[in-house]
Amino acid sequence: MEITYQSTRGGGQPVRASEAILKGLAEDGGLFVPNAIPKLDCSLTELSKMSYQEVAYSVMKQFLTDFSEEELKNCIEKAYDDKFDTEEIAPLVEKDGRFYLELFHGATIAFKDMALSILPHLLTTSAKKNHISNEIVILTATSGDTGKAALAGFADVEGTSIIVFYPKNGVSKIQERQMVTQKGKNTKVIGITGNFDDAQSGVKAMFGNKELEKRMNEKGYQFSSANSINIGRLVPQVVYYVYAYTRLLGTGKIADGELLNFVVPTGNFGNILAAYYAKNMGLPVGKLICASNENKVLFDFFETGVYDKNREFILTTSPSMDILISSNLERLIYRIAGEDAGKTKELMEALSSKGKYTITDEMKKRMTDFAGGYAEQEKCALEIRRVYEKTGYVMDTHTAVASAVYRDYKEATGDDTKTVIVSTASPYKFATSVMTAIDEGFSKMEDFELIDELSSTSGTRIPNAIEEIRTAPVLHDTVCETGDMQKEVEKALGL
Ligand SMILES: *Cc1c(COP(=O)(O)O)cnc(C)c1O
Repeated sequence: MEITYQSTRGGGQPVRASEAILKGLAEDGGLFVPNAIPKLDCSLTELSKMSYQEVAYSVMKQFLTDFSEEELKNCIEKAYDDKFDTEEIAPLVEKDGRFYLELFHGATIAFKDMALSILPHLLTTSAKKNHISNEIVILTATSGDTGKAALAGFADVEGTSIIVFYPKNGVSKIQERQMVTQKGKNTKVIGITGNFDDAQSGVKAMFGNKELEKRMNEKGYQFSSANSINIGRLVPQVVYYVYAYTRLLGTGKIADGELLNFVVPTGNFGNILAAYYAKNMGLPVGKLICASNENKVLFDFFETGVYDKNREFILTTSPSMDILISSNLERLIYRIAGEDAGKTKELMEALSSKGKYTITDEMKKRMTDFAGGYAEQEKCALEIRRVYEKTGYVMDTHTAVASAVYRDYKEATGDDTKTVIVSTASPYKFATSVMTAIDEGFSKMEDFELIDELSSTSGTRIPNAIEEIRTAPVLHDTVCETGDMQKEVEKALGL
């Protein structure tokens, strides 16, 4: 079956997958959604015998129907190779009756590598398929992890360049260092004085700016997005849910067809949406538990049906989840509105004008696949310590949000369905918060000293991604006001 993609807000014509990947965002400001969620076309047992790369092909070919077998396999091979420090790519670790799906074994030790190591290849393949000769300019706003993962993915990929904006005071020291030391002659990293939502709004405005588009085209450039709104990011994320389930099946931890819950530490709603798509493909998933930190706009939404971003933006120890506008939620809204683009458009317009919208009771009833929860940072710190003391396993601050939310969920519901906690970052990326959670005495130490402590505490090897940045020189030091983002882009491109 041919899958096409159309805007959640109804504008424009349906496009093929490769065109949707190239465009990133639909022209009317909506997000591209598939005209149907395809079904898995292999049995779970067959999938349980496949490698990560084979599962990836089996899942992704169902969505990216205009890619040839050769094209897609080529992209997968280039992405999931020895950039990952384990052949399993996404290993499952069992501790104390729970499963941790570790999505941090790629180049930048956070889950965004799962999608961003393949996106550049999907994008350049899409450009070739569509006879695009313009250089593709990737414009990205990051709350910390996307930026580095995108930079690593696109650095020196021919026919592309990448400009990343990040909130100067809203990312961890290690995250910032990872970005500002990025090599590659086609890379640019810029700090802004605002927060992540400001960065994202600035990027969105540039994508929607027709006059800028025209001037860029004249100079042989066009924008594309590496943010999690691109379906080229979303589709590769469906893969590891199918992979996780079928690993547990393959090792006899669950029976064929048995339900499995996933707890997902959530920010922009991309990761958990991929789990929802996996469920809709036919994967036996029970609850999708959406875990938030203090910025609990999603928790409130699942409770009340009101999405309200008019609140204080709180900086937490899980910065990649410090988000008040969860862009990918628009795709869920579209589904629960019964694929009603008019309704989706109305709600999204209310979000941009009033910062708030309310869904109908009928829509709310269609969200029973989800449960919401949140955990504040003190609680997450206790959770890191508790799990460490009980099992010796050291988790990062984002995973800790999921872990703490899951404990509350289980206590409140008594749901004892087997559960996977999606582990989105390596503890090495947030070493200061992690180590002080384990022992406050560590708060006096420097970041890189703590790295060594973490290695001996957890009994794990320091990842290459961390070793590299210890000594790397700073190559990017531009900081601008939120209002000057476009000026910086024009300067970088010589417009
Ligand atoms: C991006 C990120 C998240 C949030 O994922 P979304 O897809 O934006 O919901 C959670 N944890 C980490 C470590 C991340 O980098």
